[in-house]
Amino acid sequence: MTNIIFFGPPGAGKGTQAKLISELFNLSHLSTGEILRKKILEKDTLAKELKEIMSSGKLVSDDILNSIVAARLANENHKGFILDGYPRSLKQSQFLNDFLNKSSLQINYIFNINLNYEILRNRIVKRSSLESRDDDKINVIETRYNEYLKTTEKVSKFYKELSPDIYFEIDGSFHIDEITKNIVEIIKNS
Ligand code: AMP
Repeated sequence: MTNIIFFGPPGAGKGTQAKLISELFNLSHLSTGEILRKKILEKDTLAKELKEIMSSGKLVSDDILNSIVAARLANENHKGFILDGYPRSLKQSQFLNDFLNKSSLQINYIFNINLNYEILRNRIVKRSSLESRDDDKINVIETRYNEYLKTTEKVSKFYKELSPDIYFEIDGSFHIDEITKNIVEIIKNS
């Protein structure tokens, strides 16, 4: 069973790579951003709340995310999973660690996709016209990037220090196929 976490700033391509790697290795792809966007379509009180937070570029509360992920992982069928967009805060990483310990599961690979802000911004602007996501607007991009620097990058660094043997830096400036090839090689060679 192979379990993977993808880190990286918004627009670095972690969703794209997580999807491709999940297909190549037959793993469940758990994208918290996707799950939340689906919840928004339900149009109940929680959906309204989520829409407001997400379209501002801020992070949704840890409690909501932890319960979503716990419910999804509890239903996993042991083929292995990819976490894309979670954990994004230290509280989420603590929750995940406890959950994995209790379930006798472990993370095998952590991929941190790096890309500079200029390229990220241009990519997200391009994506906004293709996918019409509320949070891909230029003024929200900066908030999302700052949330990443303020909160999520710390989580990634924490894992890097804690588990350097399973933590891999990935250059996100290459072509999609090239990045996938790099990740596949790491998985096959370790
Ligand atoms: P993403 O598709 O991963 O870029 O996520 C889109 C938005 O969903 C983020 O900007 C957050 O508002 C929310 N979100 C997704 N995952 C998380 C998480 N683990 N913790 C808090 N908020 C999240």
